[in-house]
Amino acid sequence: MKKPKITVIGSINMDLVTSTEIFPEKGETVRGTTFETQPGGKGANQAVAAARLGADVQMIGCVGDDAFGEELLTVLQKEKINVDSVSTIPETSSGLANIILTEKDNRIIFISGANEHVTPAFVSTHKEQILDSEIVVIQFEIPKETIEYCLAMCSENNIPVIVNPAPAMQLSDEAWEKATYITPNESERAQLFGDEYEEKMMITKGEAGVEFIEAGIKTNIPGHQVEVLDTTGAGDTFNGALAAQLAQGSSLREALTFANAAAALSVQKLGAQSGMPTAEEVDQFLK
Ligand code: ATP
Repeated sequence: MKKPKITVIGSINMDLVTSTEIFPEKGETVRGTTFETQPGGKGANQAVAAARLGADVQMIGCVGDDAFGEELLTVLQKEKINVDSVSTIPETSSGLANIILTEKDNRIIFISGANEHVTPAFVSTHKEQILDSEIVVIQFEIPKETIEYCLAMCSENNIPVIVNPAPAMQLSDEAWEKATYITPNESERAQLFGDEYEEKMMITKGEAGVEFIEAGIKTNIPGHQVEVLDTTGAGDTFNGALAAQLAQGSSLREALTFANAAAALSVQKLGAQSGMPTAEEVDQFLK
């Protein structure tokens, strides 16, 4: 069977995670406990989720010309994601999140880096591949004008787009109109849409599952009761899974049921990408 084609246009980041017992004060140096790098970025995470679930995924994005950029490309390639449309930007750092963790708290410095180079002009050079997709997925860690450009391009050419509005950022009414599916979590929904509810919105509600409108009536697919280890990337697993299922031709309810299960599996494991399940694991879980 031919795999359905999905294009993810979005961020590719490296998380630099340092654990420490105490945060340093101004001018102070403290000895930390552990350090690790974890590949991330909502775009890359959603691409990995969809690829593991059996989609033929192509990533459109940018990394920096540093060691992280090389590693991030390798990680995507290992997941069999097509990275021909990922550019390495000279004299620019990769997108990074510098995360400092204590047992109680975290402090994060985020650098958008090469993700800022995902401009409308850059995306337009990949127009042909984008329009050859069953579905396109975008999130909000790339410039706003690029998001609006992608929505206009896809709607003109009748390519469905999943818009995951995270982190929350307001678009023009005209741009929202062009989205096929909008997948905010509860706080993004409140921030961006208030009480407004449209047929194309699917609201993820953490352990409470997902809410959507079916045949004009608001309905809910309850969350699965699971032992939670790490919810990082739950939303990304949900969006990647939704894309993979819709691209295969599933109904909206089937796709949401599958995505809700895939995301529940992901919270039982540590890490964003490392916790993402395969299609067999999701099917087994739903039996
Ligand atoms: P995150 O930022 O942690 O990646 P999010 O805020 O974007 O997540 P959520 O609504 O918290 O999105 O979670 C997305 C989906 O993941 C939910 O709709 C649900 O399917 C699943 N999920 C999240 N948390 C849990 C949980 N504790 N138990 C079961 N399923 C969960």
